[in-house]
Amino acid sequence: MSSYKPPLDDIRFALFDVLGSEANFARLGFADANRELVDAVIDEAARFSETVLAPLNRIGDEVGCKFDPATGDVSVPPGFKQAFDQFVEGGWTGLTNDPEFGGQGMPAALGGVLTEMVDSANLAWGNFPMLSHGAVKALETYGEDWQKEVFLKPLVAGTWTGTMCLTEPHCGTDLGLLKTRAIPNADDGSYAITGTKIFITAGEHDMSGNIVHLVLAKLPDAPAGAKGISLFVTPKFKVARDGSIGERNAVRCGSIEHKMGIHGSATCVMNFDGAQGYLVGEPHKGLQAMFVMMNSARLGVGVQGLGLSERAYQNALRYSRERLQSRSLSGPKAPDKPADPIIVHPDVRRMLLTQKALVEGGRLLSLHAYSLLDAAEHEADAGAREHADTLVGFLTPISKACLTEWSIESTYNAMQCFGGHGYIHEYGMEQYARDARITTIYEGTTGIQALDLIGRKTAASQGAGLKLFLGMVEAFAKQHEGDPALAEFIAPLRAKAAEWGKLTIETLQRAASNPDELGAASHDYLFYSGYVVLAYWWARSVATADASSRPQAFKDAKRETARFYFARILPRTLLHKAAIEAGAASLMAMPAEHFGE
Ligand SMILES: Cc1cc2nc3c(=O)[nH]c(=O)nc-3n(C[C@H](O)[C@H](O)[C@H](O)COP(=O)(O)OP(=O)(O)OC[C@H]3O[C@@H](n4cnc5c(N)ncnc54)[C@H](O)[C@@H]3O)c2cc1C
Repeated sequence: MSSYKPPLDDIRFALFDVLGSEANFARLGFADANRELVDAVIDEAARFSETVLAPLNRIGDEVGCKFDPATGDVSVPPGFKQAFDQFVEGGWTGLTNDPEFGGQGMPAALGGVLTEMVDSANLAWGNFPMLSHGAVKALETYGEDWQKEVFLKPLVAGTWTGTMCLTEPHCGTDLGLLKTRAIPNADDGSYAITGTKIFITAGEHDMSGNIVHLVLAKLPDAPAGAKGISLFVTPKFKVARDGSIGERNAVRCGSIEHKMGIHGSATCVMNFDGAQGYLVGEPHKGLQAMFVMMNSARLGVGVQGLGLSERAYQNALRYSRERLQSRSLSGPKAPDKPADPIIVHPDVRRMLLTQKALVEGGRLLSLHAYSLLDAAEHEADAGAREHADTLVGFLTPISKACLTEWSIESTYNAMQCFGGHGYIHEYGMEQYARDARITTIYEGTTGIQALDLIGRKTAASQGAGLKLFLGMVEAFAKQHEGDPALAEFIAPLRAKAAEWGKLTIETLQRAASNPDELGAASHDYLFYSGYVVLAYWWARSVATADASSRPQAFKDAKRETARFYFARILPRTLLHKAAIEAGAASLMAMPAEHFGE
């Protein structure tokens, strides 16, 4: 039976020791986020995740959401609503939101910690609050005052939940193709929204009093393509400008999807049939607002991958210590037992260490990105805010894509540690692998993150984000130059950083004469980048652990894992580099008909 224990020691190491969040929170003006309070919040989030959410993970998978075709209603799995009520009562939905709208104004980095534990415990359940968060961000940034007043307070309080209605049957990645229409209503400044959205997470459910749909649609005079998209707020129950709740709006759930994983998350077809909606932001500028929703959600989906990897690793580790099979190649390690525990075998260690290295390094990648969100909003100096904003923009596709792709690798490795038992439902491991699979698809596929990184976040900005990250690497390397305890990490890290810069310039030069070169390099460039970023965090982890007062075993474990990472995972960059340098020719030469009949 699968279990979950929040990894509080490593979370605190990442947040406080490595990232220095205690001082950061104070510097950024989070007056209440002192160490004592943040520790208390982390402990309580851990308790809630472990004791309330984790026990519902299995039943959520087995029972799933239910759709009633007669009414269009969707019911969530047993226990989900009660857990959500507790979450709302505890004020968790508004942890990081603006106090003006009822939030607690805590740092985004603390929100990242909460999200990891929630997603480890119960990813499907975690989707409900996550989607609300994206809706809040879009309304906060682009909503009119009355919209903020009327919609934000209940969304932040958690009495209402939100959705992002982007995808349509014929378009997901290319939203310029969308067909949903918004026609101005003559009388009250509202719009009639008509169209079908598919795959809408939390589109319909029985956990909250109202559901606030943020819908992308086109106005009658919309220019063609992505420049003609506008954003509308369209609630399940109509809401007037004075906040009074009206009748049911003309939006219904047509069905829910039967999926590979996250059965407890409602994935809905939503039919809008002249539903009353209000424009959010300027006409035809919906794509900008959508990116506000998506950027927040992309870091969140990265954390979903991290959370699953953490839980799968914990269980694989426990099992590998208990399961007795065969003797160690170098002689018995448990001679009093009929066989050695499988953790003695090199191949099992390869799987475990790969998980550990990707999870603990990945936690820093993710929490650093969340910390940059705080800096981008709260740094006193405009230049520092811009610096943080550029860097988090650069790291977001890396965090989303790498943490989710690594969650597929990690959950499969964890399942493999269980042998045949991993494939059997009862042990819980196959659920993590099934749940992990969607994280590389929604909120923009891995392919789209890769294009975002190399295109918008690198080529279009002359590598501004990359330069900032390379600056961090060099500052760290300089600080520890000549330290014999770190030399084994600093030299290869510096070499990789130099190579990363050169590779980027060469790739962009090739792309100047052939745009396909960018797309051809994108996947490998993204993973090359992710592995170098993690090398930086592993080197810093060793330096930080060594300088801390933590037990020797903790310091040793960080160093041993870092050595494994540098010796056996960082060399994956060699493959990615070769693929990038191979260029577009071998990908693009073959005519479509040669792929097969
Ligand atoms: C369980 C679930 C929940 C979801 N929740 C939501 C939600 O709440 N709201 C919402 O709006 N949507 C949601 N989605 C939709 C999801 O975001 C889309 O499925 C995803 O963005 C991909 O779009 P698509 O399925 O249309 O694939 P397509 O866009 O058709 O892509 C197919 C393949 O082509 C690749 N591709 C497409 N264009 C390019 C390109 N230019 N360059 C390189 N490769 C390309 C893609 O990477 C992909 O591999 C959800 C989906 C699922 C399955």
